[in-house]
Amino acid sequence: MRIDIITALPNLLDSYFNDSILRRARQKGLAEVHVHDLRQFSQDKHKRIDDYPFGGGAGMVMSLPPIHRAITSLKSERTYDEVIYMSPDGYLLDQPLVNRMSTLTNIIILCGHYKGVDERVREHLVTREISIGNYVLSGGELPAAVLSDALIRLLPGVLGDETSALSDSFQDGLVAPPAYTRPETYGDWKVPEVLLSGHAARIQEWRHRQSVERTRDRRPGLLGENDPE
Ligand code: SAH
Repeated sequence: MRIDIITALPNLLDSYFNDSILRRARQKGLAEVHVHDLRQFSQDKHKRIDDYPFGGGAGMVMSLPPIHRAITSLKSERTYDEVIYMSPDGYLLDQPLVNRMSTLTNIIILCGHYKGVDERVREHLVTREISIGNYVLSGGELPAAVLSDALIRLLPGVLGDETSALSDSFQDGLVAPPAYTRPETYGDWKVPEVLLSGHAARIQEWRHRQSVERTRDRRPGLLGENDPE
């Protein structure tokens, strides 16, 4: 998978993608992440990428031309499956959407700033809008990193243990069961007996029961309907 991120603050993203699992994924050639500085596509002599809103009001709006140039330049080099705009009012990111998107080959992610982008970007250039939650951040960089991380960790070969992504929360519509590791006892705090029993079927049944109970407790909505995409 190749991810091209268009941002006004490229430095914000570098450290995240240059460490941990995401760096390994890049080194193994499983994922490519390219961060593009939107200012490079500004033809203004001060490299401006924003302007005052028509009709007045507070806050600046990101201009259409630099974004159009950035997207057109990327599209002239390869075909993209999606041009995604991170936006608080987009589809609320969830695991089923991440799973479906993890099979894509090339995607562009556009990060907004200020009051967001000129609406014509959304009307004519963007194919999908995604939110990471019902709250407002100052820029789309963290949301873009969240989406990229969620996608990249699903690519075959990225996680050490091939099955581990499948046992994470939400993969089967349930949250994950609790996990324990050594030491077996820590003062009075003990690990549930069943996990030490070596009895695979009982352990699996216990984990499943825990998942169901926790889902009912913490995410009852998962047992119901989701928002329309
Ligand atoms: N005026 C906009 C908010 C702009 S916030 C509104 O009220 O909807 C500036 C930028 O941060 C947005 O353009 C978007 O790219 C990003 N952003 C902020 N919160 C986000 C969220 N919850 N999910 C995804 N992107 C978000």
